[in-house]
Amino acid sequence: MAQAERLETDVAVIGGGAVGLAIAHQLAQDGAEVVLAEANAHFGDETSGRNNQVIHAGFLYPPGSLKAALCKPGRDALFAWCADRGVPHRLAPKLIPATGAGVAALVALQAQGAAAGVTDLDLLDRAALARLEPAMQADAALLSPSTGIVDAAALVASLRDAAEAAGAMLVPAASALGGEIGGARHRVRIRSADGSLADLSCRWLINAAGLGAAPLARALHGFPAAHVPPIHFARGQFAAHRGQVPFRHLVVPLGAVLEAGGALSFDPSGQVRFGPDTCFVADRDYRLTDDVPAPQIDAIRQWWPGLDASRLAPDFAGIRPRVTGPGQPPGDWRIDGPEAHGVPGLIHLFGIDTPGLTACLTLARHVAACVLAPQPNGVPA
Ligand SMILES: Cc1cc2nc3c(=O)[nH]c(=O)nc-3n(C[C@H](O)[C@H](O)[C@H](O)COP(=O)(O)OP(=O)(O)OC[C@H]3O[C@@H](n4cnc5c(N)ncnc54)[C@H](O)[C@@H]3O)c2cc1C
Repeated sequence: MAQAERLETDVAVIGGGAVGLAIAHQLAQDGAEVVLAEANAHFGDETSGRNNQVIHAGFLYPPGSLKAALCKPGRDALFAWCADRGVPHRLAPKLIPATGAGVAALVALQAQGAAAGVTDLDLLDRAALARLEPAMQADAALLSPSTGIVDAAALVASLRDAAEAAGAMLVPAASALGGEIGGARHRVRIRSADGSLADLSCRWLINAAGLGAAPLARALHGFPAAHVPPIHFARGQFAAHRGQVPFRHLVVPLGAVLEAGGALSFDPSGQVRFGPDTCFVADRDYRLTDDVPAPQIDAIRQWWPGLDASRLAPDFAGIRPRVTGPGQPPGDWRIDGPEAHGVPGLIHLFGIDTPGLTACLTLARHVAACVLAPQPNGVPA
């Protein structure tokens, strides 16, 4: 049997997406010794590199949820981070169009936003909307002026550099296979790309493995399986649009039109995309359909009848880990620490779907506050 190398650290973070890197940075900056293991050769290649790159303003999430609590401050923190570190980003105001009975949902969203501290939402009637976006067909729209866009790859690179500068050790091509949980220290078995094995001993284990978080939790001996929630894979495919569109705003419809891929976004380079649609899959599968699905074209035409579908082509797909399945609204994030599962020194991040990119810095502060909280004997953990 292969002999495993032994390594020791205060905190082991598993997963080098935006969230794991932000956690490694925050904890290293707060003085902890941190080792981060990422399965891929490059950081941020999974969900953090396959998304809309929208900096959400924070009004779409139910009051009392972690998403509502962390998105708006996360948005503010991310704008400041990007400005300080030269990460390409900018304001990109968003419109949420609605027709008929759907207009009532806009009023409710405006109130929900106010409760979350998003007080700049403007409800536009048909005439005001026509002045702003003449090619859009809707009875009304909610305008969010403080939504933005960010270059996700540049953001991940900035988090990686900041984590390393703060003293965290980042190890790419290192898969966490499982481990032993319990006692004063946990042990995580890590396999490198060359097949060599190492046992990483840590006082705190942070499972930020995204789509891999639930399988990793199940592979930790001593962790009660009953505490691992079912995680659903909500795959979303994007369609790229060749050439310009007659819109200056991001467009995010609600309900079935959104689910079918009817949202419009553009990235900091100006590339226009529609989507993602939502289709639940059993495994990580990024393969594209040959053509843009007809329901997506129909969804876009709900609010843009003038779409020339010949300009669309399948672009890329990403997968959102979700705590809820088909037919249910996206649930809340689960950050399960010792108070949730009873195991000291262990935090799982489950179902970190949208707006996890926006809130990566506040998710990191939330986790770090749990790790660094004074223990009952008065000393930091
Ligand atoms: C289609 C789509 C659109 C989205 N749009 C937006 C948006 O516009 N705005 C927004 O804020 N959010 C958006 N999101 C959500 C956002 O992308 C995620 O919430 C965020 O990227 C999650 O980051 P993460 O670090 O938790 O996960 P990931 O980026 O997936 O990182 C987890 C990492 O863990 C690694 N890993 C897994 N298992 C192991 C293991 N056993 N050992 C070691 N490493 C492991 C993986 O390789 C991966 O790199 C979108 C997501 C999707 C899919």
